[in-house]
Amino acid sequence: MDQGAYAEFKRHRMMTQTPQRLSTRLGYTIPRLVTEAGFGSKYEAAMQSAIQMYEKFYAFNPDVAQYIVPNGFNRRVLAQFNLREAFAFCQLRSAANAHFSIRRVAQKIYEEMARVHPLLTKYMKLYDETWEQVEENYFTQV
Ligand SMILES: Cc1cc2nc3c(=O)[nH]c(=O)nc-3n(C[C@H](O)[C@H](O)[C@H](O)COP(=O)(O)OP(=O)(O)OC[C@H]3O[C@@H](n4cnc5c(N)ncnc54)[C@H](O)[C@@H]3O)c2cc1C
Repeated sequence: MDQGAYAEFKRHRMMTQTPQRLSTRLGYTIPRLVTEAGFGSKYEAAMQSAIQMYEKFYAFNPDVAQYIVPNGFNRRVLAQFNLREAFAFCQLRSAANAHFSIRRVAQKIYEEMARVHPLLTKYMKLYDETWEQVEENYFTQV
């Protein structure tokens, strides 16, 4: 997920989260609105200069380097949670008023769970949208 989504993800207290350090090494998202507003190339130039600055800081200290990373960059997090939290998270964060960055994550988690535990997920009430639709409608790059 991108760092913007992670800022929302980490508010969920009923789970154990093990994030990797934030870095510029896992790529970044481009919201469709940025491109449509004509700021695509400026946005990408800013991300490229963040990548260069990150590597300079990383050589000094990887923890310090995290502070240069814009919210559009992706990061990895391992999360463990029970069924109650799965319902709370997926239903809340797939809702129409939730941000598209976290809607994508909620729908993906739901889909993976539905694949393994269809009997449990059939009672989840999710907004009628797939993660593919979120990516198509809200991002030019993920
Ligand atoms: C669409 C949307 C918009 C949001 N907008 C904002 C915003 O504008 N500003 C903002 O600050 N936040 C916002 N939030 C974040 C929200 O305030 C919560 O931080 C987030 O939803 C995670 O907390 P939670 O209680 O829902 O769930 P979790 O922390 O995942 O917990 C699940 C449930 O477990 C129980 N629980 C958890 N911890 C405890 C505890 N210590 N004691 C007792 N019971 C507990 C509660 O029943 C809780 O609802 C938004 C969330 C959503 C989904």
